[in-house]
Amino acid sequence: MGGMATRISHWVDGRSTPGTSGRTSPVHNPATGELTGEVELASTEELDAVVASALVAQLDWRHASLSRRAAVLFAFRELLHNRTKDLAQIITSEHGKVLSDAAGEIARGLENVEFATGVPNLLKGGFSEQAGTGVDVYSIRQPLGVVAGITPFNFPAMVPLWMCANAIACGNAFILKPSEKDPSAGLFLAQLWKEAGLPDGVFSVVQGDKVAVDAILAHPDIQAVSFVGSTPIAKYIYETGTASGKRVQALGGAKNHALVLPDADVDMAADAVVSAAYGSAGERCMALAVAVAVGAVADPLVDAISARLPKLTIGDGSDPDTDMGPLITAEHRDKVRGYIDEGERAGATLVVDGREGDLPAQGFFLGTTLLDHVTPDMSVYRDEIFGPVLSVVRVDTYEEGLALINSNTYANGVAIFTRDGGAARQFQFDVEVGMVGINVPIPVPVSYYSFGGWKSSLFGDTHMYGPEGINFYTRGKVVTARWPDPATSSVDLGFPQTR
Ligand code: NAD
Repeated sequence: MGGMATRISHWVDGRSTPGTSGRTSPVHNPATGELTGEVELASTEELDAVVASALVAQLDWRHASLSRRAAVLFAFRELLHNRTKDLAQIITSEHGKVLSDAAGEIARGLENVEFATGVPNLLKGGFSEQAGTGVDVYSIRQPLGVVAGITPFNFPAMVPLWMCANAIACGNAFILKPSEKDPSAGLFLAQLWKEAGLPDGVFSVVQGDKVAVDAILAHPDIQAVSFVGSTPIAKYIYETGTASGKRVQALGGAKNHALVLPDADVDMAADAVVSAAYGSAGERCMALAVAVAVGAVADPLVDAISARLPKLTIGDGSDPDTDMGPLITAEHRDKVRGYIDEGERAGATLVVDGREGDLPAQGFFLGTTLLDHVTPDMSVYRDEIFGPVLSVVRVDTYEEGLALINSNTYANGVAIFTRDGGAARQFQFDVEVGMVGINVPIPVPVSYYSFGGWKSSLFGDTHMYGPEGINFYTRGKVVTARWPDPATSSVDLGFPQTR
């Protein structure tokens, strides 16, 4: 088995570059348990070499005109769109999510590329004529230089695209450090950037673990770090990166609630909650992990959810009939299983038990679990489980549900299900969470807004992608100018060129 594993390398200076550290990490197909790859883990010296190449490339790239940058982004967008199937297969083979879900993450990533094609408009500054007598004042935004993105296993294409499209459009060189669990999608993106005409060195991939991450955080020539992953690491990245003078945005974990009011359409709410709790086997930072049932809606809601679960097909994500694939690793599957054990011991009602049932023998599979009568002191409620486990907490009133949600340490996404517009509006006003869905279970903002949670779901001031992404990857400069009267001019009948 081990002999079949392919070497997964770095991408430096526009080409695949074998590692020299002698350290690697195994990559599996989670649906079969098979070892499919060995990813190189970079040393500090290898990271230094990537930064050196990126620095040289950025000096040129920052001179590229806005229309040239946009042209590269348009080409990249077309390639990514046309190659969606190929990339989805790579994602499914290393992550395990079903192909349609992998294609969905690419589609959401594509939106970020489409947003970044508008860079000529996005980088427009302000201009004040005659701020003083004969004096004009104007603002411009300039790239930071070399920036890095450190990404999680659960969106191996979308999260890198959240970062790199805007970073590159703004004139930076971008270094991606993908998750070592599914490192191939980042290399596929690198190949497409090259085909799109991006100069070598502007997009690099450094494979690695904590060694590479710490080298990124310490490197004096990396100006900014974007991170998406779990909360303890996000906090570490933020504190370490800012201490060494970098700009850092670090998105962390989540425990997303759905507040279901008594007047909600129970079938619609159940469809939405099941989709959002079990899609991608619950390995989404915007997954719904807790349904907060208000009053009399609890019994019919639990019935409606549990009626839907046996109909889900669990299996290899590359089979088009599969609804839910495996978890990322055997260790993670066992950890999620352990939470179900703890929930049972703590007195939650096991309505559907994912530990039982007919699951494929190979691979890292776990069935869907529904726990009722969960209370806030239980570990299944407190911790981010990141698996196909939904907890139902019963409350008597809207106020009780709201207080529960607002007291949680995580505050990434939340959803309310109701037919009452006034109640929904009140909730939107009251809730202390960064992204709110009203009868929408996974309210990931479109690419022209920005993505980010509150509290321990995000460290830093800037949300990711959209307008805040453009600000994150640029520095503002304001120019105050006084000129003598123009004395020279010339005639040129050619059509004005921008490139
Ligand atoms: P993770 O924190 O384990 O890893 C994220 C990245 O950090 C990886 O590239 C990894 O190599 C690196 N890393 C891991 N341990 C490290 C250490 N000790 N020191 C330095 N670097 C380290 O997260 P994961 O398991 O890959 O992803 C799942 C987590 O990501 C969940 O908590 C999920 O909620 C979160 N997530 C959040 C968002 C969001 O937008 N807020 C989006 C997707 C995922």
